[in-house]
Amino acid sequence: MIYRSPGAIKPGIESHGLARLLGGRGSHGLSRSVTVRVEKLGTSLEQLVVPRLHYEAKKIESINNSGLHMVGGRAFGSPRLSKAMKDCETMICFLATIGSGIEKEIARLMEGNRLSDAYILDSMGSVAVENMVEEFHQGFTRGYESEDKRVTLRFSPGYCDWPITEQKNLFEFFDSNGTGIELLPSCLMRPRKSISGVFGVYNNGAKMAYNPCLDCPMKHCEARRV
Ligand code: SF4
Repeated sequence: MIYRSPGAIKPGIESHGLARLLGGRGSHGLSRSVTVRVEKLGTSLEQLVVPRLHYEAKKIESINNSGLHMVGGRAFGSPRLSKAMKDCETMICFLATIGSGIEKEIARLMEGNRLSDAYILDSMGSVAVENMVEEFHQGFTRGYESEDKRVTLRFSPGYCDWPITEQKNLFEFFDSNGTGIELLPSCLMRPRKSISGVFGVYNNGAKMAYNPCLDCPMKHCEARRV
């Protein structure tokens, strides 16, 4: 399925996320000179971004401590994912990208020795695709409220204890020609500014969604959710 909720597919630049990537400071999180560059590059970013987000709702067949099996035979081997999904019957699997236009522009800036601009644009692209996926996730959170259901946190292959090699299993849920995202032999994605992942759906009566970060010893992990 292609996600078509109005507004949710429009990637925005969330200033806090950008400030975190660019080591920001000051009242808006970024220095004045970086803010000027961000504003200037923002105009071209709008032209460069071609957002696409595909998702599939898939049934979970069984869950144990080391992983979970989906109806249809695909398995995911992550104890943390397993724990997070323990009250779920359905998992939303998604692939999202803002396209390859931004990468071409970053390469052009680098060739022109505009390294700072290239770095800032790269960071803006990361924030844009993350923001798009966050909006998508929040959209499901709101949408399920009326059905008295909730969603778990998001998880992506390659994070926490979920091996990146399991991207292959996730990609098998999608038509390889239809998403605009290619899975490389390394299990990284092309275009680079793409995010793959899952979240579960559970009945509101169940306990709060499990957050593995709360009992994880990796205190300085960049993906930490608190
Ligand atoms: S802090 Fe959270 S995101 Fe980072 S490795 Fe631990 S559980 Fe995963």
